[in-house]
Amino acid sequence: MSLPTGLSINSTVDSDIHSTSLNVIIIGAGIGGLAAALFLRRQGHKVLILEQSRFASETGAALHLTPNSNGLLRRLGLYAEELRANLMEGMAEYDSKGNLIQRTELSVQNELWQHPWLLVHRVHLHEELKRLAISADGKGIPVELRLRSRVTQVDPSASTVVMESGEVVRGDVVIGADGVHSKARAGVPGGDVKPKSSGKRAFRFLIPRETVLENSKTVQFAKKEGELVMWFDKDRRVIMYPCDSNRQLNFVCICPSIKDEEKNTGDEWSSAASKDELLEVYAKFDESLQTLLNMADAESLKVWELLDMDILPTWVNDRLGLLGDAAHPFLPHQGQGAGCAIEDAAALGVVLQSGVTPDEIPERLQLYETIRYQRANRIQEYSRIAGADLGEKKLNMMEFAAYNFGHDEWDNAT
Ligand code: FAD
Repeated sequence: MSLPTGLSINSTVDSDIHSTSLNVIIIGAGIGGLAAALFLRRQGHKVLILEQSRFASETGAALHLTPNSNGLLRRLGLYAEELRANLMEGMAEYDSKGNLIQRTELSVQNELWQHPWLLVHRVHLHEELKRLAISADGKGIPVELRLRSRVTQVDPSASTVVMESGEVVRGDVVIGADGVHSKARAGVPGGDVKPKSSGKRAFRFLIPRETVLENSKTVQFAKKEGELVMWFDKDRRVIMYPCDSNRQLNFVCICPSIKDEEKNTGDEWSSAASKDELLEVYAKFDESLQTLLNMADAESLKVWELLDMDILPTWVNDRLGLLGDAAHPFLPHQGQGAGCAIEDAAALGVVLQSGVTPDEIPERLQLYETIRYQRANRIQEYSRIAGADLGEKKLNMMEFAAYNFGHDEWDNAT
């Protein structure tokens, strides 16, 4: 891949600040891009992030930050429990008729896991990562974050990126952290693959916990702080969990997709949804669940297509490496999207540690892929299995937890 004709390199990242540091370009200031910037900054590298949006009205709802990600965030000095996050304390599973199938307390597990399983609002986590990245305090050189900077093309050998404006920026290494609809992905062999619909979509909304507690039909579902509650039928389910210091309840209502495959691949974290449609999808569920769904604010109700993608043959090419959703967009059923992006980011901080020279970058990125590829692909597969239609099978959120939450490899490796 070469630069389009007529374009010249008119901007470079200086290398004068730290003689042994690398000039790193990260495309995308999402959870993974910001985490990578922080890990690489700590190694003394000079990091520039190019982000397409203005971050004027950040959207998103709650995310799972499982033990595997919290141990890594703590290394960055980020304690997510201070971001009004909730400890995941247990789970209750109901069938569509409202019968309680099982309740799981996590008190013993919470004692055993080295780091907590937290439920955090994406906006709170994102804000804190951004603050730490650009802060003058802390280890390394503050990250330069350029907003309204959409990247359209990457040259992996020259480690240059072309922006929508036509400007070309060069670094020593380019990290594609530009999410599920990544442009950087086109720079790796086999990267012309597009995410496709999984056949499922998710309605999402938040409601104040207080509202649920005040209603006699729903109070039982919100009494326990830190409890995740699920209702499920064969091909649809509702998952509710707290965030924002138990002040809000986050709903993810997963059900069959209605759109055709062509329409399902848009970049839409904030597509408005119809409340009537939501109620219709769950019309056969128990009345108490319908009362809960009726509490959704029609104005802020969103619906997202749940996208899946074939496994990429490789995440790296010469001086370009992909991370997070750009490399392995997960279905949400294991709550590992943010966590694995953070793991990728930490791995980059290890392979591109202080003292690595520009000549060593291609082999270091290969090493990064070797470390991360199998684990991410396995979690992707587990997410597919966990989200499959249930039939007679019981839902088991914890089925793959021992593997997903594993963090010993980090404590040994770094
Ligand atoms: P993301 O967090 O998606 O970040 C990708 C970043 O790259 C974004 O900031 C995007 O604007 C930027 N970008 C994309 N293309 C370009 C380009 N060409 N040039 C420059 N920048 C580019 N997941 C949930 O489970 N629940 C949520 O509520 C939720 N809300 C979200 C809201 C938003 C606005 C976004 C962007 C993502 C949301 N996600 C949500 C997805 C979740 O954050 C990711 O699945 C996970 O954290 C992996 O992170 P990532 O860094 O790989 O990708």
